[in-house]
Amino acid sequence: RKAAFAALRDVPPITKDGHRLTLMVNAGLRDDVAALDVTGADGIGLFRTEFQFLVSATLPQRERQQRLYKEVLDAAGERPVIFRTVDIGGDKALPYLNKEDSDEENPAMGWRALRLGLERDGLMKVQARALLEAAAGRTLNVMFPMVSEPWEFDEARALFEAQRTWLEGRGRKMPLAIRYGAMLEVPALAEMLDVLLPRIEFLSIGTNDLTQFLFAADRANPKLAERYDWLSPSILRFIARLVSPTRDAKVDLAVCGEMGGRPLEAMALIGLGIERLSITPAAVGPIKAMTRSLDRAALTKYMAGLLADPPRDMRGALTAWATENGV
Ligand code: PEP
Ligand code: MG
Repeated sequence: RKAAFAALRDVPPITKDGHRLTLMVNAGLRDDVAALDVTGADGIGLFRTEFQFLVSATLPQRERQQRLYKEVLDAAGERPVIFRTVDIGGDKALPYLNKEDSDEENPAMGWRALRLGLERDGLMKVQARALLEAAAGRTLNVMFPMVSEPWEFDEARALFEAQRTWLEGRGRKMPLAIRYGAMLEVPALAEMLDVLLPRIEFLSIGTNDLTQFLFAADRANPKLAERYDWLSPSILRFIARLVSPTRDAKVDLAVCGEMGGRPLEAMALIGLGIERLSITPAAVGPIKAMTRSLDRAALTKYMAGLLADPPRDMRGALTAWATENGV
């Protein structure tokens, strides 16, 4: 099977009824970029910049950050890379950074990601400069994690723009364009979509965090691991509601959580109208194979009916549909 997936490398992810999807990979380290050539993916839909911080004994200085980002962009070539600004704090605590603040009862819902970044803005300014200089002469895609309200996005974007102005004033070569986007992983943001969409160029649904917040169920608690299914009607309905507003606003909508790397879950997402997935590299072959056996129009119709009157066992229903339809 592995060989069969490898053979799909140069074959595009097109559904049986001719719909071209975009399949990207999640990455975090320099060597992960090799996955682009191995899998034939369309780009890196989520580059988790905090990995460099997590594997480092001391805070990575700007030069080190910049070198990594440039190496990643060089290796990716024409393929886009979406850099997510650091998602640290909470359970991804850094001993050299927020030791004194690490006493949190609910770290996942705590002082992490953009919340920490906007307050400790020295850290974010350094990262902004590193990204801006690394992407000189190209397009820079920046994504902010854990955006809970639109003003947080505005502040983060303003921080980047101020660094751009500052660097430009010093004669530094800057990116040709900067595209800004947000992760949707805090459910509250979905209620503010009409306010957020005009501000952003892409939106990426982080189903790992979104699921735990939607169900109020810790994603790291093994007692809950089997309880709430990614294919539950509430998650699918939640995601379904994001599809047409983002399409109307011409904002790229992707899913970058682990959900998109499972064939049945990815099939369901495609049935809801999701056209871009960023997944773990090992999943690209299986998801491509699934896509190429899928009649998207038939699935879309079937899922609309399912969501209108959801069975308790959504997984069972989708499995049966997939089997009957040769997916
Ligand atoms: C997510 O929350 O779904 C996500 C992609 O980000 P992370 O897993 O890094 O929190
Ligand atoms: Mg997340």
